[in-house]
Amino acid sequence: MTTRWAPLPPLRGARAAVLGLGKFGGSAGAIRWLAAQGAHVVVSDKASATKLAPGIEALADLIGSGQVEVRAGQQDLGDVDGAAIVVASAAVPMPWQNHLLDAARRAGSIVTTEITLALRELDGIPSLAVTGSAGKSTTTSLIHHGLQAAGVATWIGGNIGGSLLDLARASTTRPDWLVLELSSAQLWWLGAEAMAWGGMGSSAWSPSIGVLTNVAPNHVDWHGSIRHYVASKAGIVPPHGPALLSTQDQALTAVLRRHVDDAPWWPVDPTRLPEPPPLCLPGTHNQRNAALALAAIEAVLAHPASRGATHSMAKATEAISQFRGLPHRLELVGEVGGVRCYNDSKSTTPGSARLAVASFVDPGRIHLIVGGYDKGVDLGSIRELAPQLAGLYAIGQTGPTLAMSEPWSHCGTLSVAVERSLDRAHAGDILLLSPGCASWDQFSDFEARGEAFASLCRSSRPRMHRADTIPS
Ligand code: ADP
Repeated sequence: MTTRWAPLPPLRGARAAVLGLGKFGGSAGAIRWLAAQGAHVVVSDKASATKLAPGIEALADLIGSGQVEVRAGQQDLGDVDGAAIVVASAAVPMPWQNHLLDAARRAGSIVTTEITLALRELDGIPSLAVTGSAGKSTTTSLIHHGLQAAGVATWIGGNIGGSLLDLARASTTRPDWLVLELSSAQLWWLGAEAMAWGGMGSSAWSPSIGVLTNVAPNHVDWHGSIRHYVASKAGIVPPHGPALLSTQDQALTAVLRRHVDDAPWWPVDPTRLPEPPPLCLPGTHNQRNAALALAAIEAVLAHPASRGATHSMAKATEAISQFRGLPHRLELVGEVGGVRCYNDSKSTTPGSARLAVASFVDPGRIHLIVGGYDKGVDLGSIRELAPQLAGLYAIGQTGPTLAMSEPWSHCGTLSVAVERSLDRAHAGDILLLSPGCASWDQFSDFEARGEAFASLCRSSRPRMHRADTIPS
């Protein structure tokens, strides 16, 4: 089914509104695209100018030329008044209840979001889209990496990397396939209901091939209910094309699909996934991600849109096998005196810290750094890990709750934790930063925390413990 897009209003000389700049300018792609169409763009964000400084700086040229105006620390009806088009950041929760968006739409503005504009711009290019509660970025990157090695020209985008609108403007060529990571929020915006509500089109957008990594209750704050979250994710299923599901979470998926409809919404037998090759990525979850990526690549190569081209599945498999992982997700950042150091700073829930520990064969060789911002969640499942580990080093606000009784376990800061853990570790051990908590108490975001960890590891002096010595 092809999407029936509505014509856009003339944008040259028109007023456009963007709701939500994002600290690092997450809406910059849409803002630049609107400005390139000749619109005068008003960007409003509730956050202060100080908080938005990096995002504002990235738009300095357009602000300087007067095409873009940023209103920081406020958002009111005046921002959308008279706008021909209103682009909401995908972070705006429950957009259908947002009074500014609703007022704009009632006044006849097109109300939409960046991903919708990008897919409208790239209409006609076959697409593979990945969603799921966890594993989206890894699986999407594996697919993109594997397809490129197989000889398929792909662009990666959506909820990963820069804006596809920037890429579309900067490039004179178009790829054979789009490989998209889509969040449930983006899928909602691409669904029939939102398309009609905001005036972007009269039918839902669907990928040529849909991939679901798993489903676990999440983002209820954005969606209002689990039912809405799962229903939005169901938008990944193409009406006629293949849809692939990881064997993981079958039971959970079966339970959750009841939140959507009595009819099953996932049409494919989930057990037909290929065996993944040996991987550089640790963990059984990554084996599942790789198996799904291989199945997705096979589906792309077998798709009518790929017919006639020569592609190599063997090269795709080799590329997946060699893939070293995304930054901050069980990423091997170095080795200090035989101790391998893994940065899993993206781990912000107890479940992901447990998954990271389970990714290695022998927990008794793991020195685990945990703790961070206190979201008020139960951290008992992280504490339970401690007895089987070589050491647990607690940092940040939740540090006192997480630390073991030994004094060395109370570290406070990341630099103390790295120093102490490397002092105690022996060659052959693993130093793992998988905090299980958000970073905001001590770092601006999980990336800053992961980079600090990598740089502390790199600047550390190797210790002189032998591999076969039992950790004290
Ligand atoms: P997402 O883009 O959905 O947030 P990522 O690929 O960035 O997912 O991985 C984030 C974290 O999610 C990983 O560090 C790991 O803890 C966990 N994870 C990754 N893949 C899976 C999976 N298939 N099942 C469960 N958890 C996973």
